[in-house]
Amino acid sequence: MIRSILIHPDPRLKKRCEPVGEITDEVRRLAADMLETMYEAPGIGLAAPQVGVMKRLLVMDCIKEGPAEPMVLINPVVDWASEDQTVYEEGCLSIPDQYADVKRPAEVRVRWTDLEGAQQDRQFAGLWATCVQHEIDHLDGKLFIDYLGPLKRQMITRKMEKLKRERAREG
Ligand code: ZN
Repeated sequence: MIRSILIHPDPRLKKRCEPVGEITDEVRRLAADMLETMYEAPGIGLAAPQVGVMKRLLVMDCIKEGPAEPMVLINPVVDWASEDQTVYEEGCLSIPDQYADVKRPAEVRVRWTDLEGAQQDRQFAGLWATCVQHEIDHLDGKLFIDYLGPLKRQMITRKMEKLKRERAREG
């Protein structure tokens, strides 16, 4: 089921999310819905607060060509980040059509729980590293525009307020 994606500004996008406890059918359904919603958007990552669920769960798939590699990360934690940094032009499904350069560690090691309840860890590089850090930020109520200067951030926020007013009018 496609879920609707919250658009910035929204107080739910600024809150720290709660850890996922037991992996119930509800959690499995949430993960499946989030993957469907992400692919449909289309996007390469989606965090639970973006669909209004204040839990530490994210989905991503940074494969652009070739077979899909859907990933579900529950309670992800960054264990290690490289000193080496990299700049990517980031966007966000909660901030449609706005892009900006963000500097982050080039590689990170992340551990998480998978849908079977098993512990996983993996070192991410390239686009995957940027994406996983962007999505984990969402779980802490942080958006990529929080890395920008105040003027750029305000400009984007005003555009989003306008977009939300237009969408509300269209019903
Ligand atoms: Zn985002």
